[in-house]
Amino acid sequence: MNLETSFHQVLAQCPVCFNEETLTIWDMIDASTDPDLREKLLRKTLQSLDCRNCGHATLIASPLTYLDPDHGLIIECRPDLSPAELKSRLDQLRQEPELVEGLAGDSCLRLVASMNDLIEKIHAREQKLDDRVLEIVKLAVLRHGTAETAIEELRFVRAIADELHFVLRNNDGWFQYALPGQAYDNAAQLLDRLIDTGLLPELEDEAGFLLVDQAYAARCLDAFTAVQTAPGEV
Ligand SMILES: [Zn+2]
Repeated sequence: MNLETSFHQVLAQCPVCFNEETLTIWDMIDASTDPDLREKLLRKTLQSLDCRNCGHATLIASPLTYLDPDHGLIIECRPDLSPAELKSRLDQLRQEPELVEGLAGDSCLRLVASMNDLIEKIHAREQKLDDRVLEIVKLAVLRHGTAETAIEELRFVRAIADELHFVLRNNDGWFQYALPGQAYDNAAQLLDRLIDTGLLPELEDEAGFLLVDQAYAARCLDAFTAVQTAPGEV
């Protein structure tokens, strides 16, 4: 497998006026050689179909592998797969060691389902935060949040001045949301204690690709709750 920026071109149809435009689809992006592509990805302008006929801009999601050797990061983004297909793709990736040869031992290899997942994991890694811990923090907010309307989506953006900054979406739109940095430390301790118990085999196995999503965080939180309610085991 060739690990460098690559693309192909397709004819894509504007969903508004059905005009056809040539669109560049990025198959792989190496952030170290193409920082401008990283920037466009984070700004969500990477694969924008800008219609010259009606002026409408449409973001096109497609499979993309994101590489950042400087941050020890490889993420395969698969918006084209169903949850079941995503799981079998994960099994497949975990059996392809050639992809991870030559990588530093603490590299972060992830499979994600959407562009928003991809962007969030880039932010986390660049700020030296553990995405597993962030997913636990997010799930705790979703489960015990104080918001009056249900949170539909919660995305980590950055950590500044001992605060974690998120954006959240509910019925009324997108809003900024901040948590004290202590929330991260607490979740990191929880994860450490859970790893010590050996109850979740997937936590032992950090090498290779992982699918660290809300379901992953749910397995962690549920296992931790089970440990806490079984006296004498912690
Ligand atoms: Zn159009």
